[in-house]
Amino acid sequence: MSQHADVFAPPRDAPDEKRNLAGLSREQLAAELAALGEKPFRAKQLWHWIYHRGVTDFAEMTTLSKDFRARLAETHAVRRPEVAVAQVSRDGTRKWLLRLADGQEVETVYIPEEDRGTLCVSSQVGCTLTCKFCHTGTQRLVRNLSPAEIVSQIMVARDGLGEWPSPAEGRLITNIVLMGMGEPLYNYDNVAIAMRIAMDREGLSVSKRKITLSTSGVVPEMERCGRELDVNLAVSLHATTDEVRDWIMPINKKYPLKMLLDTCRSYPGTNNARRITFEYVMLKGVNDSEDDAQRLIRLLKGIPAKVNLIPFNPWPGSFFECSDAATIKRFADILSAAHISSPVRATRGDDILAACGQLKSSSERKKKAEREAAREARA
Ligand code: SAH
Ligand code: SF4
Repeated sequence: MSQHADVFAPPRDAPDEKRNLAGLSREQLAAELAALGEKPFRAKQLWHWIYHRGVTDFAEMTTLSKDFRARLAETHAVRRPEVAVAQVSRDGTRKWLLRLADGQEVETVYIPEEDRGTLCVSSQVGCTLTCKFCHTGTQRLVRNLSPAEIVSQIMVARDGLGEWPSPAEGRLITNIVLMGMGEPLYNYDNVAIAMRIAMDREGLSVSKRKITLSTSGVVPEMERCGRELDVNLAVSLHATTDEVRDWIMPINKKYPLKMLLDTCRSYPGTNNARRITFEYVMLKGVNDSEDDAQRLIRLLKGIPAKVNLIPFNPWPGSFFECSDAATIKRFADILSAAHISSPVRATRGDDILAACGQLKSSSERKKKAEREAAREARA
């Protein structure tokens, strides 16, 4: 377990607060009910109401006896975070800014496409890593999200899209990507509990084949993630030399390219039908040369890989520029010629600052704007 988890632990429920049943694993829920003197099948019934039906009010859980519902409501609750802002982009992308019990905020984004609907889930408030191109990395406050705060993002999105009970077919949310705010492998334990809840067939029922965890390359946790959770892996690569990666992604100094790619080579469950996605943000004059493309091909040798080329999304005050369209195309063509699938990701939701790497809580943005206004006023 990483040292970060303790320092940045989510706050505990206040002692006088009703205990939240959302975010408990099946075993924890059963133990909670056993402590109330209830039989194990009660946990199964509650699970169904919470995760299949999306119900938050015990009164609506009509398969439970009236007496049990009333007793439960005295000591327990099924809580959602408060939706502080819900926005819809011109292109149909949706963003929810969630206010957590301690006032911290995180964002969740839904991206509808022709053949799928992807929910981009956050794992931390902010991020301790400071990748130079990423807005989340400039947020000063950081803490881990609890399992409830992670899984509740899916439930809030289902609330917003009117997608209860969990549909068997024709879903709006088909895929989940841990690509929102934060580094999921620095909060592995809580992410794992939340993803196991998401995968449970009697609840949210999202297949592990439809869940992708994106990491900046936290090498010591990667193998465990594959072995225990068996979700798809995406790796934020973004550079082809240690020199450039050290600069734009300081985590590279700890886990350099060779170590990272060797770990990818042995990621459990990888094969040609199930490849590792390498994310590569196109930064003008930094990582977008033909030499970079050739080096990338060499680096990925022996790894069942696809490359997602992401046009850099600027944010207020960002230092980099996005590569030109022609440069991106040339880069993609070189990879294609080497038989590496390399789609260019379309930028979505940029009018509501919902695109990759732009997530940052709005109160942080406001504070920064206020600091800048004060600085200008002084000048
Ligand atoms: N911390 C994890 C997951 C969240 S970031 C990670 O880094 O993988 C999701 C993706 O967005 C990552 O690939 C990240 O590198 C990329 N990203 C960050 N800032 C970006 C920006 N401004 N433009 C485009 N992509 C960006
Ligand atoms: Fe954190 Fe990922 Fe942003 Fe880097 S790119 S600062 S790891 S959220």
